[in-house]
Amino acid sequence: MATETQASPSQYDKDNPFPATISENKLLSGEGSKKETRHFVVELGGSGLSYACGDSLGIYPTNNPEQVQELLNSQDWTGGESVQLPKDDSPIPIKIALMSRLAIGDQSKKFLQSLLERAADSPAKSEAEALLAPEKREELKSYLEERHLIDYMLAFPDVRWEPQELIGELKRLTPRLYSIASSPTRHPVCTHLTVAIVRYETLGRQREGVCTTFMTDRVGIGQPCVPVFIASSHFGLPEDGATEVIMVGPGTGIAPFRAFLQEREDKKCSGRNWLFFGDQHQKTDYLYREEFEAWQQSGHIANLSLAFSRDQAEKIYVQHRMLEKGKELWEWMDGGAHFYVCGDAKRMAADVDDALHQIAREHGGMDEEAAKSWVKQLRRDKRYQRDVY
Ligand code: NAP
Repeated sequence: MATETQASPSQYDKDNPFPATISENKLLSGEGSKKETRHFVVELGGSGLSYACGDSLGIYPTNNPEQVQELLNSQDWTGGESVQLPKDDSPIPIKIALMSRLAIGDQSKKFLQSLLERAADSPAKSEAEALLAPEKREELKSYLEERHLIDYMLAFPDVRWEPQELIGELKRLTPRLYSIASSPTRHPVCTHLTVAIVRYETLGRQREGVCTTFMTDRVGIGQPCVPVFIASSHFGLPEDGATEVIMVGPGTGIAPFRAFLQEREDKKCSGRNWLFFGDQHQKTDYLYREEFEAWQQSGHIANLSLAFSRDQAEKIYVQHRMLEKGKELWEWMDGGAHFYVCGDAKRMAADVDDALHQIAREHGGMDEEAAKSWVKQLRRDKRYQRDVY
């Protein structure tokens, strides 16, 4: 275990990110997986940055240069046209603005409205205008999600933007936050990340997540060109190492729990650890398998509950495993355990929350109202914490 510490506060933060290097980029998904989940090591040496278990690493990505060039070509711009960004001191070339300052992916309803005001009549214009009717909200949402800036440029070729006018319509490229998958007790001057690389197709074009492909396709190992900062979090381990913890982290949601397990091992915490992990297939998507199996063997992970959703005809998810072990889970909670959830916010976190309520009803002898207040109280006591996205 490393012992280096960083006592003085860092000069680097969200407004002044540190140019970090990626020293490791390893594919975690096995051959044949439908996913591309990667393990990154981001070096913080020399930055003075420190982090706590449960924090996230903020990364400012750069857009794909080929996509930026395609945008410039669509307007017959050289890229050298000067533009002024709000709140900036001096003008910069539009190519720089499109590369690293502005979001060129999906656009807002406001952008679409500005575009339509400039567009000549065409079938594309009629289609888009029809979606602005109040009853078409859902269709408009899908329309906006499916299209990136370049799609509008190609679908409305008669619209010629002044560079400054276009800049005024685009949103800032914002940093992306990734839950740190390492503990500072073991890795004080680097952070580990567990990242699902986003690639998909809409309208016959290949699309990609800006930051995930920036990290894996466009940043070379050892280049000091990844602007980062530490985003502190409310999400963290109980102070008392004797407290038991239950961690539910399917997919990339596993990240902070790998950090929790490292930290509790390093600090020799006596409280038991229960990990719920799930993903599509055991053979190809069991992230960090060797580490978790070793911890299971050593007893550091007292209970390991796995849910591989696509290894059988019926889907099996982490919340199904929770319900199967409901009696034991209730006993842990009744004994003061802390309960943590990380990963998908839309479906998983809500279903896990339902399962927790169900366990309180079935094994804690509560009615619906009592189970609701019990869960609310857990949250107030910070015994139930979520890091969901
Ligand atoms: P995931 O898509 O959340 O899948 C993990 C497992 O959860 C799969 O077995 C999946 O099963 C299962 N699942 C699906 N619905 C569920 C439900 N209602 N309850 C419980 N489990 C459920 O895995 P992921 O790779 O972490 O991707 C999560 C999403 O977050 C991605 O869209 C990713 O782009 C995004 N995201 C990732 C990061 C990051 O990488 N750090 C950061 C921000 C956002 P099935 O698929 O078989 O249904």
